[in-house]
Amino acid sequence: MVRSENRQPARPWGQTEVREVLRTRGLRYSRPRRVILGYLSEQDRHVSAESLYLALKQRGEDLSLSTVYLNLSVLAQAGLVREFSGANGEALYDSNPTEHYHVICPETGEVRDVTPPTIEGQPLGRFLRDYVERETGWEIDEPHVSLTGRAPRDRRRGD
Ligand SMILES: [Zn+2]
Repeated sequence: MVRSENRQPARPWGQTEVREVLRTRGLRYSRPRRVILGYLSEQDRHVSAESLYLALKQRGEDLSLSTVYLNLSVLAQAGLVREFSGANGEALYDSNPTEHYHVICPETGEVRDVTPPTIEGQPLGRFLRDYVERETGWEIDEPHVSLTGRAPRDRRRGD
């Protein structure tokens, strides 16, 4: 796949990068942040603050729900995790920092990552952003594309 100018990393964050990103914002790489990012980086995950809190608790971590909330929000503001809206508008956090789109099932809440198709060597969202900027002269934010739908297996079950 062709990648052009890119504001997001092409792979998960390394420890040194995380430290650097936090440091430039005057933030410490505290134990709660390490625990949260460690859990999220084990695989692609889309979690709510509550589900993350419960998963960490099950592992014997002693972070409170408010600590999880607070630190997810800090990590999202630092761009280390991505915040987006789930099927019912709830805040979800994404461990995959690379550019991708979501398909979300409104019934099950399942979220799947999709690699953006490219147009003229640019990911679709960025192509659209540049196009709208040229057309309007506005400075357009990085688009986050979310589509809703049902997985093939759920469609079969419904028949
Ligand atoms: Zn995702």
